[in-house]
Amino acid sequence: MKKRTADAIVIGGGIIGAATGYYLAKQGLKVILLERNFPCAGSTGRCIGGIRAQFTHDLTIRVMLKSIKMFMELDSELGEDIEWYAGGYLFLAFDEERKKSFLQAIEIQRRYGLKVDFISPDECARIVPGLNQEGLLGGAWCPTDGQANPFKVTYGYLKGMERLGSKVITDSEVKRINIQGDKVVSVVTQTGDEFYAPVVLNAAGPWAEGVAQLAGVFLPVKPDRHEALVTEAVERCLEPMLVDYRSDGCYFVQHYKTGHFIGCYTPVPIVPGDRIDASDEFITEMPRRMVRLLPKLASVKVLRQWAGSYEMSPDGNPICGRTPVEGFYVAAGMSGHGFMFGPALGYLMAELITTGKSSIDISEFRLDRSFAKAEAMK
Ligand SMILES: Cc1cc2nc3c(=O)[nH]c(=O)nc-3n(C[C@H](O)[C@H](O)[C@H](O)COP(=O)(O)OP(=O)(O)OC[C@H]3O[C@@H](n4cnc5c(N)ncnc54)[C@H](O)[C@@H]3O)c2cc1C
Repeated sequence: MKKRTADAIVIGGGIIGAATGYYLAKQGLKVILLERNFPCAGSTGRCIGGIRAQFTHDLTIRVMLKSIKMFMELDSELGEDIEWYAGGYLFLAFDEERKKSFLQAIEIQRRYGLKVDFISPDECARIVPGLNQEGLLGGAWCPTDGQANPFKVTYGYLKGMERLGSKVITDSEVKRINIQGDKVVSVVTQTGDEFYAPVVLNAAGPWAEGVAQLAGVFLPVKPDRHEALVTEAVERCLEPMLVDYRSDGCYFVQHYKTGHFIGCYTPVPIVPGDRIDASDEFITEMPRRMVRLLPKLASVKVLRQWAGSYEMSPDGNPICGRTPVEGFYVAAGMSGHGFMFGPALGYLMAELITTGKSSIDISEFRLDRSFAKAEAMK
């Protein structure tokens, strides 16, 4: 059994742990990241790579504007092609209530300089040729939203951490968190190896509640199952992520380089738990919903389906910052948007941990908030 020391320990090798670990290492800290399986084994490797600033919560919009700017510069930061592409996001409105909620959201988003418009059905069809306009009242359109490759971004950050002298250790599950007085001291893995550091970050995604319990901290993060599929590659015919919020809607995008369509929907009712079994219902329903929106997809074949977890907080916003245990931090509860939040929240968490404050004040995402102000564009 080994004993090792570091300036900071990060638990979890998804996008949040990787990005925070990288920016901590960039601030000069010696970081050890512990991942119980392999990088991207959790939600990050199961997500569809969409990135947007169209939200309704002021802080989320500000964080996402920062994240998008960082995605644009990540190729040179990490020395990797992370496949960033600004194809936009088009949220479709099929009823007056949805249209009203998009118009209200646009008002908030524009305060922060986001280029977003409510456009007519004909304009929607100009952006998405072949779009079925039946019942369509228009859409919320932001051309600066986009897509990137979750594997390339996460592995890019992890390699960057290692270049900076920090360590990524896989097959290492944190089983115990040791606390002395009210301070975190060390973590112990399933092999009995002990890692000492004054800072421990819980970035365990859908499993963050259980990791917090190891430190005696209550963290209200609950996973629910989301399924996805990818189709064969076809000639490019869709630029943006197309989002249909109807209860039988879906969202999908075409990869700008390869031509594969990738998409999911939010099940009604939700399927609680960290389940990764895929369903017959999804593989029957999802293609039907895609073809309803874009009839020309009728002949496109599905290649694969899979499932992963959204890690939901009570209000659909991240939980980031300190906990009642000194030195024990959390960055979890990304509520289905962790990939897009990754760069900015990783950077801001690293600032908070090393300097006590972050350049965008993220205290509204703190653990001891009321969770009363829910995100409407989940
Ligand atoms: C189908 C689907 C589509 C999605 N689409 C999008 C999208 O388009 N855009 C977007 O932004 N987000 C999307 N998401 C959400 C996104 O994937 C997550 O919000 C994000 O990946 C969360 O990252 P994370 O690092 O917090 O968690 P994870 O990626 O789950 O990483 C947590 C890691 O912690 C490890 N771990 C857990 N417990 C321990 C322990 N005790 N010791 C050591 N390691 C441990 C796990 O093995 C895991 O690798 C989607 C999710 C799904 C399922």
